Amino acid sequence: MTRIRRHDHGMPYAEEDLGEVGAEAFTQQPAPDGRGVIVAGSCPRCHGATRTLFLWARPGTGSKGALSLLLGRGTTQRADGAPEPLLTEVHLCECGHAHPHGPPDMSYVGCGASWRIRP
Ligand SMILES: [Zn+2]
Ligand SMILES: [Zn+2]
Repeated sequence: MTRIRRHDHGMPYAEEDLGEVGAEAFTQQPAPDGRGVIVAGSCPRCHGATRTLFLWARPGTGSKGALSLLLGRGTTQRADGAPEPLLTEVHLCECGHAHPHGPPDMSYVGCGASWRIRP
């Protein structure tokens, strides 16, 4: 039997910075169309499955706008020497469950937690 902590649907939404969490619970793989990387894992706060596509920012193509459109927040850039969104980006819960007390205009749905992944 695999032990999986159950997704806590009743946990109230809160924008909480969880700091650094271990990398064991996360995987990253190239997006099927090669435009970025998909980071998947379970949220350290609500334990829901979360999956985020990070697009590579292409210099000169104005892809920043497209990225914001897709993620509804922030941008990511592939800086030299920092190739892995798994370790370089702040991750936000996108478990897909509208947690109680969440803002009504959320462009992504999760419990509000954010975290970085420890190398
Ligand atoms: Zn969460
Ligand atoms: Zn959740």
